[in-house]
Amino acid sequence: MPNYVVGHKIPDSDSICSAIALSYLKTELGEHTVPARLGELSPETLFILDKFGFEQPELKLSYAGESLYIVDHSERTQGPDDIDEATILGIIDHHKLGDITTSTPLECWIRPVGCTNTIIKMMYDFHDIAIPKDIAGAMMCAILSDTVIFKSPTCTTADIKCVEALAEIAGIDDPQALGMEMFKVKSAVEDTPIRDLVLRDFKDFDMNGHLVGIGQLEVIDLAIFDNIKAELEADIAALKAEGNRHSVLLLLTDIMKEGSEVLVVSDDAELTNKAYGKASTNGRVWLDGVLSRKKQVVPPLQESFS
Ligand code: MG
Ligand code: MG
Ligand code: MG
Repeated sequence: MPNYVVGHKIPDSDSICSAIALSYLKTELGEHTVPARLGELSPETLFILDKFGFEQPELKLSYAGESLYIVDHSERTQGPDDIDEATILGIIDHHKLGDITTSTPLECWIRPVGCTNTIIKMMYDFHDIAIPKDIAGAMMCAILSDTVIFKSPTCTTADIKCVEALAEIAGIDDPQALGMEMFKVKSAVEDTPIRDLVLRDFKDFDMNGHLVGIGQLEVIDLAIFDNIKAELEADIAALKAEGNRHSVLLLLTDIMKEGSEVLVVSDDAELTNKAYGKASTNGRVWLDGVLSRKKQVVPPLQESFS
C-alpha cells in the first residue's frame, strides 16, 4: 500500500503541485508515495499540469487505515473527512497552525513563507535530491500563484529565490510573464456557473465555534464581475443558509490595483467593521492593499470572534 500526499479540499495549484513534488521526493527517498486530491481542479491548475505534462493526481476522498502526508493546510475542516482513521506521517504547510492532531510522532515542516512548494524546495535541498525539470516548473508556478507573482504580503525572499532557482532548472526565462499568463487563465469567468466561481477557492474556518466560509477570486480586472456581482451575492447568501454558516465572505481580488472588494453575508451586520475597521454598504466593502486571505483577512476576523 503506498503512502499518499494530499492537500486541502477544493484543491488549488499549491495543494496539487506540492502533492506531486513531495510524492516524488519521498519516493526517491525510498518510500513509495503517490499524490492525491480531494476535489476537482481549477482552470489555473489544469493549465499548469498541461504545461508541464502531468496527469491529474488520483481523486481520493477516504484515507481510513492508510498513511498520508498533509500539505498546504492543517485544518480539520479542510482535510479528508475520515482523517481520524488515518496515520498522518507529516504536515508541510505555510498557514496558521490548525487543529489537526496525531497519535503518533510525525514529520513537520511549517514555515511562514508564501507557498508550500517553497518549503518542499527546502526539503529537496536538505536531502540533496535533484528536482526533475517538469516538477520544478510546476513548483515554480505554484509559488507564483500563491504569492500573486510576488505581490502578496505573504511573499518572502525565500519564495523569490526559489522561483529563480526552479526557473533555471525548468528552463523558463521569464517566470513573471508565465505568471501573468497563468493569472489570465485564472481570470476567465465567462461560461462558468456561479456556484463554481464561488467555490473555486473556498475555505471553511471554525472561528470560536462559528463556521465561516471565505472564498477568493483573484483576477487582473474587477470589471469582469460587473455583470455577475448580484448573482454572486445571491449565491453566497444561499451557501450561508445551506451550510448553516455564521458568515460567508467572497473576496474579489484585483491583483493589478492590489486590493479586494469583499462581498459579505453574515449574522453580524457589523462584521467587517469589527474585523477590518470598515463597515460594509449593502454587503460590499473595498479593502485597499488586501491580497492575502491567510495573512490579512483570516487573522483579524478570527480575532473579532474571540
Ligand atoms: Mg492552498
Ligand atoms: Mg498554499
Ligand atoms: Mg491563495
